[in-house]
Amino acid sequence: MSYGIKGAIISIVGISNVIDTEEGASVYSFDASGLSGAADIVCFPPDIESLSRLLSLCYNEGVYIYPRGAGSGRTGACIPVCSPNVVISFERMNRIIEVSREDMIARAEPGVITRDIQKAVEGAGLFYPPDPASASFSTIGGNVATNAGGIRAVKYGVTRDYVIGINALSPDGERLYTGGSTVKSSVGYDINDLLVGSEGTLSIFTEITLKLLPLPKYLGVILAIFNGEEVALRAVNAILTAGILPRSIEFMDKTCSYIVLKGRNYDSSKNAPSILLMEFDGNEEAVRIDMAQVKGLLKNDFSATVVVKGKDAAGELWSIRRSLSQRVRELGYPHKISEDIVVPRGKIRDALLCLGAIEDAFNGSSGSSIKIVCFGHAGDGNLHVNILCDLNREGNKIEQVVKEIFDMALGLGGRISGEHGIGIMKKPYLTSDIKGAQYKIMQEIKGIFDPKGLLNAGKLFPERQKDK
Ligand SMILES: Cc1cc2nc3c(=O)[nH]c(=O)nc-3n(C[C@H](O)[C@H](O)[C@H](O)COP(=O)(O)OP(=O)(O)OC[C@H]3O[C@@H](n4cnc5c(N)ncnc54)[C@H](O)[C@@H]3O)c2cc1C
Repeated sequence: MSYGIKGAIISIVGISNVIDTEEGASVYSFDASGLSGAADIVCFPPDIESLSRLLSLCYNEGVYIYPRGAGSGRTGACIPVCSPNVVISFERMNRIIEVSREDMIARAEPGVITRDIQKAVEGAGLFYPPDPASASFSTIGGNVATNAGGIRAVKYGVTRDYVIGINALSPDGERLYTGGSTVKSSVGYDINDLLVGSEGTLSIFTEITLKLLPLPKYLGVILAIFNGEEVALRAVNAILTAGILPRSIEFMDKTCSYIVLKGRNYDSSKNAPSILLMEFDGNEEAVRIDMAQVKGLLKNDFSATVVVKGKDAAGELWSIRRSLSQRVRELGYPHKISEDIVVPRGKIRDALLCLGAIEDAFNGSSGSSIKIVCFGHAGDGNLHVNILCDLNREGNKIEQVVKEIFDMALGLGGRISGEHGIGIMKKPYLTSDIKGAQYKIMQEIKGIFDPKGLLNAGKLFPERQKDK
């Protein structure tokens, strides 16, 4: 980046809101995918006015713009890959602007940590349901840009279901308002919904309005240990078809279950344990009735060991679940590739069986030893598939495994991502999921919002939009 442009950027946002050393900027060059890029300059815009001027300068000068939340994304979506670039971090735009009990909404700047929103609204007797396992460190801006899901989606849906308004800036700094403060509307095309899940490729959010619900009065948790993965997943379908809707149904395969149960007193006659962790909410009586029914069903029809926990005792179980992604690293493989396929709810057993077959076929034919470990939001059909491997040994062959996993999900009527998005990691596979006219419309939409292709370039689309 030329000194002239750098100087102009610094004079717009102020020297204290910029990092321009190579070492400092490197901290903003990667995310939780393990991929990395190279940030030329990192800006922390203090307000919308300076952000708008910064964008206008960058757009005129042909500087690539990379919005960034907490960098917890799994796909490299916030990583700066084209140069010259500016990374725009929202760390300092982190105010909760309003929590309205009357309107049952919250308004927040994009850099607010999701857990802080949850806590703030709970203080007012309200509830923001989306709860990604990364809620204690990811930002609401990042959640909106990726349409984050999480452990309560089975009952309450995903981030998109709660975003009713967005204030944004177009890549050249023009202001854009979508949606509003109402929980319904029927006015033209829904640009607001389009921005949710756009992975920072269409516009930059500066304020987000969220719909809230009344805070559920009572919570209960069931931990059920099954003798086998297949039986656990059959139980998920049995619970849902019995007309009971827990707010979370989290599945852990045999390997994850061993990790969770290690050092605990559990029935060791179950030689291939599989866990479902379920949470129920609502009024106390209804929750107790549902939980009793589920407990009976799981014990009688599925021979599960069932442990019922109150809200406080359940906290430890949830923190174990949230740490699973890290803990599978304890298995000693040098590399972990994380995918998040989603299939129709009734097909989740088939997906798990196919994953076992993919692992067996790979190990049988290549003489290598990879391990596929799964956990995730079974109630939504969303599995986090972790491929544990040694990339130095298995190298490019892992790409074939990933492709087989995506082909399998698509073949079952599913999608290549349930909640993590496409970013860099999955862009080679986008057109296996989104095809024909729909893909063409997506490209045209990108061109309307960002004619120069400067905003989060190198993401989502297999080919660079500007180069088409
Ligand atoms: C341990 C762990 C657990 C996780 N669990 C879940 C889970 O349960 N569910 C789930 O859905 N995800 C999960 N994730 C993935 C990740 O946390 C989410 O994708 C999250 O939404 C990313 O938020 P972030 O603030 O870190 O955004 P980043 O990773 O910084 O960025 C993500 C995207 O948002 C864009 N962006 C950020 N801010 C803005 C803005 N103001 N305007 C426009 N675009 C913007 C970026 O350009 C990028 O495209 C998990 C990740 C980890 C590491």
